[in-house]
Amino acid sequence: MTSSPASPLPHDQARPIPRDRIRPAKDLCSDCGLCDSRWVAYVRQACAFLHQDFDGMERKAHGRARDLDQEDELYFGVQQRMLTARLQTPIAGAQWTGIVSRLGVRALETGLVDAVLCVQQSPDDRFTPMPVLARTPEEVLAARVNKPTLSNNLSVLEQLPGSGIKRLLAIGVGCQVQALRAVQDTLPLEALYVLGLPCVDNVSREGLQTFLESASATPDTVVHYEFMQDFRIHFRHSDGRVETVPFFGLDTPALKDVFAPSCLSCFDYVNAGADLVVGYMGAEFGRQWLVVRNSRGEDLLKLVEAELDQAPVMSRGDRRQAVQQGIDAYDKALRLPMWLAEVVGWIVQRVGPKGLEYGRFSIDSHFTRNALWLRRHHPEVVERHLPAFARRIVERYRLPAR
Ligand code: FAD
Ligand code: SF4
Ligand code: SF4
Repeated sequence: MTSSPASPLPHDQARPIPRDRIRPAKDLCSDCGLCDSRWVAYVRQACAFLHQDFDGMERKAHGRARDLDQEDELYFGVQQRMLTARLQTPIAGAQWTGIVSRLGVRALETGLVDAVLCVQQSPDDRFTPMPVLARTPEEVLAARVNKPTLSNNLSVLEQLPGSGIKRLLAIGVGCQVQALRAVQDTLPLEALYVLGLPCVDNVSREGLQTFLESASATPDTVVHYEFMQDFRIHFRHSDGRVETVPFFGLDTPALKDVFAPSCLSCFDYVNAGADLVVGYMGAEFGRQWLVVRNSRGEDLLKLVEAELDQAPVMSRGDRRQAVQQGIDAYDKALRLPMWLAEVVGWIVQRVGPKGLEYGRFSIDSHFTRNALWLRRHHPEVVERHLPAFARRIVERYRLPAR
């Protein structure tokens, strides 16, 4: 982070790219927001889709790169420890129990930071993201619950100069964190903490509409959804009703193109650059899963530790056959009739992978699908865009030839 330099830095002279212009990463752009700020000056080195450098990022953020020979690090990245937890008093309206929002609130209340970068929703549409630099606990709480759409979080970096913010907690998904880490040393900050969310299968606002219409019986009333560890999608509706649909009943042919190209080429599922990651997929149903990557992550966790009901991570089952069957079914764009999807879902729920093994199931399924997508749609970038950890994982499976 900089102290008033004598000569202007590249970002002092740069201007955000107007919203109606094509971004440097073209169709692969995830709209992370960097290009909406003067830090676009560093886009060639910082953009997750133009210059990916997991090794460099991990060394800089955590002091070392992940150990590819250690199975937990191969899958879940650099770590000091993993745990599962839930808030003893869950926050109403949060995505899960609200650990992320509570951490943001505590970071402000304790003076650890002056502001929290998070995403509220547009007043007109529950699913349109509105990134903010929150300065009060109320503003952080207003950002609770996922906006399952691409969000230009880093656009608010543009508001940092002159804001008086010197210590920042940034909450974000992998592509946003990769760009943030790359420009971190040029930001007018004294301290930066990064709280990461795992992220996969994100969509544009239009793509989300297609997904909801295809998967839910009443798409207009959905206020919240999650692909859960019981192999079902749980939709919560505005009247409080919960609708669940088995993964295996999705209309795969209709949904093949719904995910954003950025997300079909992304391998940063577990948010490699964050200090602390808070997701759910490595935990048993109903609990959240946390990965502490470094001492700053430990400092963040301490803020809420007394309010958590904690348990160790566990792992049960064997994902491998299910992943291989999924690759073949996806490639043939098979759609099961709903009665059969319910039966398959019921069986998998009882004998399928649990805890960390469920996390590996999801990572394997998405990495193999994305490697295949990249090979078919962007063969010219496969070599530089498939990181070593993803390559090792993908090589464990039989992919269709072309
Ligand atoms: P809350 O307290 O409700 O806080 C949610 C936080 O998410 C808010 O601070 C908000 O700023 C931030 N946020 C919301 N939308 C976005 C967005 N589009 N971009 C960046 N930040 C956002 N976890 C898994 O384990 N496996 C997954 O496959 C997975 N996929 C995800 C996909 C997306 C698009 C997102 C946004 C999250 C995903 N997560 C996944 C994380 C998980 O769903 C929860 O967000 C996480 O466990 C925190 O829950 P919580 O109740 O503590 O969050
Ligand atoms: Fe710019 Fe981010 Fe898009 Fe890359 S992903 S082109 S840095 S907005
Ligand atoms: Fe970004 Fe990857 Fe999430 Fe897409 S899946 S929004 S590229 S972190």
